[in-house]
Amino acid sequence: MPSATSQQHALVCGAGGFIGSHLVRRLKHEGFWVRGVDLKYPEFSNTAADDFVIGDLREPGVWEKILDRPFNEVYQLAADMGGAGYIFTGDNDAHIMHNSALINLNLMTLAQKEKVGRIFYSSSACIYPKHNQENPESPNCAEHTAYPANPDSEYGWEKLFSERMYLAFNRNHGLDVKIARFHNIFGPEGPWEGGREKAPAAICRKIAEARNGGEIEIWGDGTQTRSFLYIEECLDGMRRLMSHPNFRGPVNIGSEEMVNINQLVDIVSDIAGKKLKVKHIDGPLGVRGRNSHNELARHHLNWVPTKPLHYGLEHTYRWVESQVQGASNHKDSASFA
Ligand code: NAD
Repeated sequence: MPSATSQQHALVCGAGGFIGSHLVRRLKHEGFWVRGVDLKYPEFSNTAADDFVIGDLREPGVWEKILDRPFNEVYQLAADMGGAGYIFTGDNDAHIMHNSALINLNLMTLAQKEKVGRIFYSSSACIYPKHNQENPESPNCAEHTAYPANPDSEYGWEKLFSERMYLAFNRNHGLDVKIARFHNIFGPEGPWEGGREKAPAAICRKIAEARNGGEIEIWGDGTQTRSFLYIEECLDGMRRLMSHPNFRGPVNIGSEEMVNINQLVDIVSDIAGKKLKVKHIDGPLGVRGRNSHNELARHHLNWVPTKPLHYGLEHTYRWVESQVQGASNHKDSASFA
């Protein structure tokens, strides 16, 4: 490992994605030398990484190439994932399980051989049992309720398998792993169209595209509940976990401010200053209710989110609105070409 006084080195896997690209910026701000790796560059801004490798982390050779120097911290965020339209239809299950498991297996194999310091693994609220999330008013996502396991998607099962694998490598090979279960992270520079976007970005887009007095379509009856965590708060929680000397998790990194989807629409409509009708249509929904449970984070990390949902939605709406306007200007100029 580099000496304690030298610059800290971090590797961010999935650095072209939503959380990864924000994390790279945060780590740079904190003084790290950062290498990012992903299949693609970040979509909405230039990477802040010192070095960015385009590579497929399912290939062991790519890991050998990127682990050519000691890293104090490795953040494993790369996964085949998406919004409800990608995860819950069943059409992508084999890809999701195979691709993500391979990435995690490769890291564990190589991390034993190379000089890797602390490893962060991004698990998900999707590991929690379906039967504890059937009542939208009182879902139970306390960390210890993960077992007996019964996730509602193969995406959740892969995350649970990989959590266990990371912990097994800690037990048997002494790897220093930390595991967080993210709950619906959102913010600017996240996917907002194309099927991989999550509820906050999808609703921001629909509202930005609608005319005042118009109608938007929402999947389900809108009474399904969720909580959403703003990206800046997520990064605070991640850094707090990575700085902790011995607490490994798994720990929830999420918000306890639960809303139903109809309420989410109302908040974003208010931010947009639009009055809209909502048409409820059939679509993939996931569990009826989900909320973060933050006792463990509060206790071990002395961390919980500090800002209300409205704060993050305001920033996100403005950003999505600018994307929607940019896309429609682009279409207009293309039609004159
Ligand atoms: P994202 O899809 O934006 O980022 C994941 C990145 O991994 C993508 O840029 C993708 O190109 C990259 N990737 C996928 N397969 C790869 C491969 N074979 N080789 C190299 N790169 C590959 O997702 P995100 O929202 O930034 O999420 C980051 C992590 O957090 C993921 O592991 C995800 O499962 C987890 N998570 C996210 C949320 C959330 O709300 N965003 C919630 C729970 C868990």
